[in-house]
Amino acid sequence: MCTTYLAVLMIREISDYDLIGLPRLVRLNPNVPWKTRGNAAICMDFGVGVGRKIQIGDIDEAPVFSYMDGQPAAPDRIFKAAERIIRANAHFECKSTNPGLLVSVRRPDASFYWDTVREIIEIKAVKKEISRINGISKGFKNGRGLIGSAAAMAWRPADRTYELLAYRKPELVGTKRQIDAASVIKMDTTYPSTFHNIDRISGHIAITPGSPCPILFGIRGDNPIDLLRAKDIVRSESPSSWLVFLTNQGTDEHLTRRKIKAVKKREGVILNGEVSREPNTIEGGHVFFEMRDPTGTITCAVYEPSGDMRVAARTLRLGDKIVAYGSVREHPFEINVEKMNVIRLNQNPDKVENPVCEKCGKHMKSIGRNAGYRCRKCGTRVPPSAARTAPRLTPKIGWYEPPIASRRHLYKPVKRFGIKRSPIREILNRFPHDEASAHREDT
Ligand SMILES: [Zn+2]
Repeated sequence: MCTTYLAVLMIREISDYDLIGLPRLVRLNPNVPWKTRGNAAICMDFGVGVGRKIQIGDIDEAPVFSYMDGQPAAPDRIFKAAERIIRANAHFECKSTNPGLLVSVRRPDASFYWDTVREIIEIKAVKKEISRINGISKGFKNGRGLIGSAAAMAWRPADRTYELLAYRKPELVGTKRQIDAASVIKMDTTYPSTFHNIDRISGHIAITPGSPCPILFGIRGDNPIDLLRAKDIVRSESPSSWLVFLTNQGTDEHLTRRKIKAVKKREGVILNGEVSREPNTIEGGHVFFEMRDPTGTITCAVYEPSGDMRVAARTLRLGDKIVAYGSVREHPFEINVEKMNVIRLNQNPDKVENPVCEKCGKHMKSIGRNAGYRCRKCGTRVPPSAARTAPRLTPKIGWYEPPIASRRHLYKPVKRFGIKRSPIREILNRFPHDEASAHREDT
């Protein structure tokens, strides 16, 4: 079952309370072995709405409204309704389905978000925090879902993005999604604040999931008002519902800046260093090189199909300065590079051709690295500088990213670096307002 669809079901079911703010879709450590595929958790705020009412979605053609502020709901009533919905919809027979439910007036400490997005944390610590904040909770099956529940509630959005998720009519779930690729390209071009829509090279449409879940498409971006308009450009089968989420997708918050010596298995890291062993390409096109910083060295792997990034990695040379973003594999212990910034190239020119012997007119042979050349015929020796060289042209300084299809939910696209964010409240104010509530405010 798709975790985000529970938001739709809960909003529809919990009608005696109002939704406050945007539902949140929080992605957690993608390197945890016992997670669900997208490792998603959702968090919603229910209460008695106060102030302006904005439209953040549609469920079965009825508008979904949300309030800017609210008074808390009775936690036990929310808990009962949410538990009923999980029991009715979760696919408990699936091994990796271990839902967790937490209802609380107080949020867990922010550290629970950071630990869960970057590391692997113990359920014991989570249960202790839940009792500290007087939360009502239920961990189904192995109970590990509670970790995600607590983490999602603990998230205080610093960097953040938005996703508009559209859901299919129930009778269509499992059939092929009807989406017009040309309209996705048009949407992608019209709204540059959106990202990960479509891979222009392969034509892969990235707004639709690969699995047979209730999602029709999801448009991600930095401006939710653009998402509302972008949705109307996409030509597709008509969705039964849609909803705008606030999310930590596209933020790289799963990555930790590390010295190489401190790198731990199954974490996401950002490493600064220089190439200490030149790349070799193995069968299948995977490229391996080694980088070092003052604390140590580590092997970096750039896998097919990483496109341009793999081509660039093949032309790295000793001493090139790079920043590698990636996740740490356990066996073998190495970095799976997810994106790379080439900061500086060593200025040694590339050798184009071995020197030619002046006596014999034949190409001379290399004696070894930096040892020069020797003629096979007459034995004449020349220094390394005798070879014909050309200035290095590759790789170019700058960022290299994998194709959109191989990026994970938390992957921060380079175009988001340095982006300016408006305060969430200011953005919510720009959503379409419910006329009736606006009128009430005026009078
Ligand atoms: Zn010679």
